[in-house]
Amino acid sequence: MKTLTPAIPQAELHTTESWQQTLANVVRQPDELFSLLKLDKTTLPAAIAACKDFPLRVPRSFVARMKTGCVDDPLLKQVLPLGAELDYQPGFTDDPLGELDSNPIPGLIHKYHGRVLLIVSGGCAINCRYCFRRHFPYQDNNPSRAERQQMLDYLRSDPSIQEVIFSGGDPLAASDQLLSELVRDIAAIPHITTLRVHSRMPIVIPQRITEQCLQWLTDTRLNTVMVVHCNHANEIDDHVHQSLRQLNEAGITVLNQAVLLAGVNDDAESLIALSKALFTAGTLPYYLHSLDKVKGAAHFQVTEPRAKALIDQLLNQLPGYLVPKLVKEVAGAGSKTPI
Ligand SMILES: *Cc1c(COP(=O)(O)O)cnc(C)c1O
Ligand code: SF4
Repeated sequence: MKTLTPAIPQAELHTTESWQQTLANVVRQPDELFSLLKLDKTTLPAAIAACKDFPLRVPRSFVARMKTGCVDDPLLKQVLPLGAELDYQPGFTDDPLGELDSNPIPGLIHKYHGRVLLIVSGGCAINCRYCFRRHFPYQDNNPSRAERQQMLDYLRSDPSIQEVIFSGGDPLAASDQLLSELVRDIAAIPHITTLRVHSRMPIVIPQRITEQCLQWLTDTRLNTVMVVHCNHANEIDDHVHQSLRQLNEAGITVLNQAVLLAGVNDDAESLIALSKALFTAGTLPYYLHSLDKVKGAAHFQVTEPRAKALIDQLLNQLPGYLVPKLVKEVAGAGSKTPI
């Protein structure tokens, strides 16, 4: 019989920090990031300028997974502010998905049949430079009690809703107390069968997967799905691996979504290594998203023919279940659109 994955003893992780402390203690100053990684500081003024548009934010344990002195590191590229972000690029806009117009009530997005997205926390542990939410008028705070009641009323009033997706920002930036209350209230609505959590936290701050978190995820009648967000195999260190396995072993369906990013993972070797590392950690690839055309992210773009060619290479080298679905978001479409 397989032995279950134990929680990693704190001592072994060289940290006694809680996830809340780690979240509060992220790197925010470009100068510090450059120093920690011993980067050449000639591009520092441009990085500082780009931060005025979208701040730098990166957990220290994520920085520790990067290679020192290497501007091409695939993890660094996801968070490093660049002067190029400020260049005008035709077709790249503030709200490429038109989400600002599709909120029937604050914090709730109902675009697809049967599934509703709840913004349960505006904050993220990490600021990914390619993020389509980078220009959203988010605040770091959680929804108020009144807003939560409004969301629940909406869910109760529409029997076609079967699945509730916790989103953000990063929903796991909210407290386990708030999340467990919300799960309890959602589980009391008979037509809802499934709870899904979309979070990058198990990847960037793996100690977020606490006993308490596993408790509200499993102590419910709802089916539970965790969709994590990991773009490169180097993001999966031992601690991330253990956290993903813990989720999997708790009976949660664990899936990954990645974004196809030039210079980060736009080669077959990186995508294959990612699928394999995820699978070893009990996680299946779900979506590979084509970049949303958000202002400031044009340098990450990969063309569609190139993206399709990469998927063909994966199909040739991996079992079908390790090949993610290549999709893009089309404003107004009823689902993610296959490419
Ligand atoms: C992506 C997304 C979902 C979930 O779609 P799936 O294809 O079920 O993963 C739901 N609502 C919104 C608004 C989304 O963007
Ligand atoms: S964690 Fe997700 S929502 Fe947050 S900045 Fe990164 S891509 Fe955007």
